[in-house]
Amino acid sequence: MRIALLYPELLGTYGDGGNALVLAERARRRGRRVELVTVTLDERLPGADLYLLGGGEDGPQRLAADLLRRGDLAARVADGARVFAVCAGLQVLGTSFAVEGDDRYDGVGLVAATTVRGERRSVGDLAVRVGGRLLVGFENHGGRTRLDGAVAPLGEVVRGRGSDGRHDGFVTERVVATYAHGPVFALNPWFADQVLGAALGEELEPLATVADRLYAERCARLGP
Ligand code: GLN
Repeated sequence: MRIALLYPELLGTYGDGGNALVLAERARRRGRRVELVTVTLDERLPGADLYLLGGGEDGPQRLAADLLRRGDLAARVADGARVFAVCAGLQVLGTSFAVEGDDRYDGVGLVAATTVRGERRSVGDLAVRVGGRLLVGFENHGGRTRLDGAVAPLGEVVRGRGSDGRHDGFVTERVVATYAHGPVFALNPWFADQVLGAALGEELEPLATVADRLYAERCARLGP
């Protein structure tokens, strides 16, 4: 399986590149073969089973959107590839996003989602109920994302703001996205395995690590 971390020099402000390391390591510890490639902005978009996008500032985010449109990420996904995206990465996958000054930019158009500027920045802890479980992390963004009615959010916000104060992220057949930094796979091992298992096309056997205890402690601190 090949995982491609896309443009960390543009979308790496919040340490989301750690998501790639966590996925690769969780796969390897279970004996799966994984190739992890880091794609810089001067490189062509390579083929991959799973593309990872992180968070970043407005200017670099615009450049990343251009590169992803030109590299035809949408065609790769139509061919079966999957994408996991965080924050700025989430925003560029939509149809359009606004940055400073309310200028609107075209996104990749993979998901029917539009991002506008919020009245104030969303900064702080973020907790989201995804199925029966909690996803924990932190957020730091000025955008608010509205989903077309046909697109499912990732989950409901328990703490923080997420996409719009009620929901966070989105899920389609091949794309999963959240506003949660952390990196979110290091903080939420169950979520890492959910995305990894879907990309591998198999149910993964449990893998106990110290991350489980730390995750339990974070959830306990959030209270009932
Ligand atoms: N630049 C975007 C915003 O402020 C995304 C920020 C981020 O990725 N944390 O909305």
